[in-house]
Amino acid sequence: MDNLKFIEKLKNSGLNEGQAFPLREELAIFIRAVTEENDEESFRLLLSEARKVTDTYYGKDIYLRGLIEFTNYCRNDCYYCGIRRSNKNADRYRLTEDEIMSCCDTGYILGYRTFVLQGGEDLYYTPEKIAEIVRKIKKKYPDCAVTLSIGEKNREDYLLWYEAGADRYLLRHETADNIHYQALHPEEMNLDNRKKCLFTLKEIGYQVGSGFMVGSPYQTFYNLADDLIFLNELKPHMIGIGPFVPHKDTPFKDMKAGSLRETLVMIAILRLLFPKALIPATTSLGTIAKNGREQGILAGANVVMPNLSPVNVRKKYMLYDNKICTGEEAAECKVCLEKRVEKTGCRIVDARGDSLVEYRRR
Ligand code: SF4
Repeated sequence: MDNLKFIEKLKNSGLNEGQAFPLREELAIFIRAVTEENDEESFRLLLSEARKVTDTYYGKDIYLRGLIEFTNYCRNDCYYCGIRRSNKNADRYRLTEDEIMSCCDTGYILGYRTFVLQGGEDLYYTPEKIAEIVRKIKKKYPDCAVTLSIGEKNREDYLLWYEAGADRYLLRHETADNIHYQALHPEEMNLDNRKKCLFTLKEIGYQVGSGFMVGSPYQTFYNLADDLIFLNELKPHMIGIGPFVPHKDTPFKDMKAGSLRETLVMIAILRLLFPKALIPATTSLGTIAKNGREQGILAGANVVMPNLSPVNVRKKYMLYDNKICTGEEAAECKVCLEKRVEKTGCRIVDARGDSLVEYRRR
């Protein structure tokens, strides 16, 4: 395969509507070639073309999402996750409504205009409790977007929260391949339901974020190709990917982490194929490499998601080992990120940062 020509093909597919989506086979071959072979020319070109596409659609603006990790209780037992229900070493916590509001207060003063309420699937927070928190935030900060990231629920709950004012929902599909999905999750979880949730969220009117882990155990290049094909069906507003990083108290503790190079390759491919999507440079990328997030931005990412959770609970939301930014106050995080982003030639902006992928709030 001519890798340089294929980069052109990826670009055309993203930029021209009606252009055929690349084939599974060629996607898998290309990902493998650029990740594993020493084809530096293609690697560099892929990343720089991706950055150019981001510049065309979003300019040099990098959007902030203030992450509030409000509970680390979870009813699920995903094999890769440090807060899975079987992990008896996890020090569990829940934030009160007042604590969540105080995170938003701090964030608002610092310029955040999106709050992401993220947590495990914790049944303590009833649908009505979540709706009440959303209403409160939207009432106090009507110019801010509220994002929920609390897992698989039924349509009724999603609708309730949407009507309460939630704007966005993040639910990574993690892998679009059934067999691979079952290798990462216990039997009671299934990919079909996860996919169904994503389409339901879109149909309700949320701006939807999905995504996957790069380098997760047993993943093949064909799995990654399938992820891209699934995302093309879903057409999400945001696509979040990060390297798999093992956690010491999980069945995957001895598995190898995903690589920086492969994650950058996937970010760049996503940017070429989905030019209007928001793509974060994730904390996990910053965990496997000191300047991982900066490199993610240079590969086409345009969102960063610093932590707004109270410092005393940060270390308890350990989805994977060695997670960064668990000791700094919110203000320090912002200053640190501003400096990092500046080095890439981009700038953090205080804006809601809605996706350019079409959506209409009902
Ligand atoms: S990945 Fe999410 S759903 Fe799975 S155990 Fe962790 S918090 Fe729960």
